[in-house]
Amino acid sequence: MTRYIVVSGGVISGIGKGVIDAGTMAPTEHGEVYVLNDGGEVDLDLGNYERYLDVTLSRDNNITTGKIYREVIEKERRGDYLGKTVQIVPHVTNGIQDWIERVSKVPVDSTGEEPDVCIIELGGTVGDIESAPFIEAMRQFQFRVGTENFALIHVSLVVDMHGEQKTKPTQSTVRDLRGLGLLPDLVACRVQGREPLDTATKAKISMFCHVAQDQVLSIHDVSSVYHVPLLLKSQGLVEFLQRRLNLASVTVSLSLKANGEDLHTRWRAMTRTQERLFESVNIVLVGKYTSLKDSYMSVVKSLEHSAFRCNRKLILEWVDSSDLEPHALESSPVRYHDAWRALVSAQGVLVPGGFGERGTEGMILAAKWAREQSKPFLGICLGFQIAVIEWARNVCGWVGANSEELDPRSSDHVIVFMPEISKTHLGGTMRLGLRPTIFNEGTETWSKMRKLYGGAKIIWERHRHRYEVGPAYVERLEKSGMNFIGRDEKGERMQVFELQDHPFYVGLQAHPEFCTRPLNPSPPFLGFVAAASSVLEEILSEQKNYRSPHPKSAMVFPDTLGASKPADELKAPTNGVVVNGH
Ligand code: GLN
Repeated sequence: MTRYIVVSGGVISGIGKGVIDAGTMAPTEHGEVYVLNDGGEVDLDLGNYERYLDVTLSRDNNITTGKIYREVIEKERRGDYLGKTVQIVPHVTNGIQDWIERVSKVPVDSTGEEPDVCIIELGGTVGDIESAPFIEAMRQFQFRVGTENFALIHVSLVVDMHGEQKTKPTQSTVRDLRGLGLLPDLVACRVQGREPLDTATKAKISMFCHVAQDQVLSIHDVSSVYHVPLLLKSQGLVEFLQRRLNLASVTVSLSLKANGEDLHTRWRAMTRTQERLFESVNIVLVGKYTSLKDSYMSVVKSLEHSAFRCNRKLILEWVDSSDLEPHALESSPVRYHDAWRALVSAQGVLVPGGFGERGTEGMILAAKWAREQSKPFLGICLGFQIAVIEWARNVCGWVGANSEELDPRSSDHVIVFMPEISKTHLGGTMRLGLRPTIFNEGTETWSKMRKLYGGAKIIWERHRHRYEVGPAYVERLEKSGMNFIGRDEKGERMQVFELQDHPFYVGLQAHPEFCTRPLNPSPPFLGFVAAASSVLEEILSEQKNYRSPHPKSAMVFPDTLGASKPADELKAPTNGVVVNGH
């Protein structure tokens, strides 16, 4: 029997995204659009789960009101309800419960087994109109699966008013929850400031929220978010859940247990080293959506994970790329000078993904600076395209070179619209999801990227784009020294470049940031941060042991190679390495 742990939120929350399709969300309004292996464009929270739990999720792991309604409407149209009145209770609430039960059985890691525990995060805040059907569904669900298999953790806020911890908001949100028929097993109090919940406050919450004192957890500020699991463990969370959900009766294989213990030891070591870091690495992120830092959540996580591995404290500078453009010298000289100061003093320059023309000339200037000054550079998706444009203009001398997306009238479209993409629909129509990149023969002797991926011939990363390097220009770009070292499975689409005579100048059409792990950083980011920290050689030799975070079953070639087949059934390339890490 699967155990279910529901996590609800009270008092404040992130933004409840409700029925919005994440694919058309504005990054400056909602934060990053996170992409899954199957091409699902989802809320950035799913990224946190994949990274922390080291699991691989699918679009069905993201349940929205819109998806449930669509399913209920389809059922109604099919006649499944025999013409009866369709209502929130029971039709929508049953739809939610069925969905959760179905998804909770799908394997999410390399064991390929049904998960023993399923964690459900209820978006938004208890009491929101949007979440009402979900709360009611959970109330029913505890009886459907048995209360012994159902635990509820309610996360609330404890406000610090001039040194006094205030519990009233927590009391009232728990009262709301109980009024809706749900009783928390744990009240996790996000306490403002570094002081833990004091004993009297804990007693008060216990008294007014109908829980024992050991059911109240203190989540105060700690050195980093990576310390939070340890903070929870120190307060007995693991033992509590073991008892509450009778986890002792779950059989876990010895190897899985050993893996878990090893992960815990390495995680502890990582948090300890983090506290003692005194050398730093200064990276500048040159992008368009710098006003909402959540827009680049996974990029920042990838840089953090890489910095830990390099034993450096990450100092991240944010530059709005339009501030680097000549017109800014006139209109906002202070911003212009600040932006250039940040760029020229950084040890590494990163241009992330993005859409639309604004600020792209500034990105091109940043890519040029890094190339000419031999500064480590990493271009992701749009950043990859930007570096190609920069090269075309300044090395090949095609002064008007640009992307079809950014300047439809350009004389040289070195970046073009991909033929298979819809021109009329923006939602869900990009080239999306996990796809292979195949490195060129010969790159194994010199490419840092190949070494970063453990020498693999084929690598797998997630994509999300509409434009690509113009096939008509590839030959000339390559002749001039731009090495496209990795292509798609047909060898037609340029996916990775790496300059040979530069400390680290790399671009990827994919978004490798979506597959980073705290203890297994995304290889291109790791190489970039290592080069910026002057430890690339050490890191390259350690990467011999790199293992991809993807379960084997995820690495399936697209239909274009014939029938879909797991990668290891395809003929092994000459060097014998089929899939990175395997
Ligand atoms: N706008 C570019 C494209 O669609 C890049 C997309 C991205 O950076 N995610 O190809």
